Amino acid sequence: MFDWLRKLFRGTASTPRPSAPDDDARKTVSPPKATPSEAIPWGRWVWIEPRWPLQGRFLGYTYVDAEAGLSAKGGPESEADLAEAPSVTMRLPMEFPWRILTEEELTARGLPATPSWLSFFGPQPDPNAPWRKDPHLQGRFHERYPDDLQVMVHDGDPRRTKRAPEVCWVRILGAEPGPPRLARQPSGEPSPARDTWVYVARLTNTPHGLQDIRQGEELRFLSSAEMPFPLHVTKQYLEERGNWLINPCNKCSWDEAMDPPSTMARFRFPDMPPDAEPVTFTSFCPQCDGFQVLTRAGATDT
Ligand SMILES: [Zn+2]
Repeated sequence: MFDWLRKLFRGTASTPRPSAPDDDARKTVSPPKATPSEAIPWGRWVWIEPRWPLQGRFLGYTYVDAEAGLSAKGGPESEADLAEAPSVTMRLPMEFPWRILTEEELTARGLPATPSWLSFFGPQPDPNAPWRKDPHLQGRFHERYPDDLQVMVHDGDPRRTKRAPEVCWVRILGAEPGPPRLARQPSGEPSPARDTWVYVARLTNTPHGLQDIRQGEELRFLSSAEMPFPLHVTKQYLEERGNWLINPCNKCSWDEAMDPPSTMARFRFPDMPPDAEPVTFTSFCPQCDGFQVLTRAGATDT
């Protein structure tokens, strides 16, 4: 394993957003808790039993504050207008017992589906967004910021750029259909077509040494079972990816790359004529000392 990769794994635990209002909370987030079934949801009326003096249980509506994260507004259950004039705001999750109100309880208390103050906090995260159904992203989201996760961000292959990739926090903005990601299984058979979502996100970290991307800029990334983190990809990489079959690294099984194949070929064969179009070539794996074989689609030996 490369030094930069070893450092990356060592350093991952404390890669908070420098600009986040409460970085301390983020420093405790590694690895992300893989307990989605226990996560307190947003957009629901909940009972919470805090361990501090409150006149009765806390009854509140959960929502996501873009800056402060998952929260609930409400008050002691005896309070008259806790739905529209909440007196207490809680930052979540907390280690207190909680449960969602039943339909009967909502009706009995005359609670609105959504309180009117919610509009102040802008659009809420979409609970049905494609990234919540991606098996390779499960358990990776920040427990207080449901669209935030860590991605391997880079300026291209570190052998070429001399700049190590960095694991950075991003906030997902949307998803787009991606290119076919042709790969080959260990048996030698081409892999079946894979889910090809490309996620659009905003970089919320300030990278330490990267030069091609800055905090606040948009990037795109892919997920894969073979990668330790979702992978930042460039527009050119996405344009070329569908035309190449990547044989997974012989040591670590990585089946994506950091540079577009045309850039990889030029780096590997600097004396190649400008109009040459290589059909197949080997390249060192970007994350270990193994190698990958890239073959142009349609030019395979199968
Ligand atoms: Zn490898």
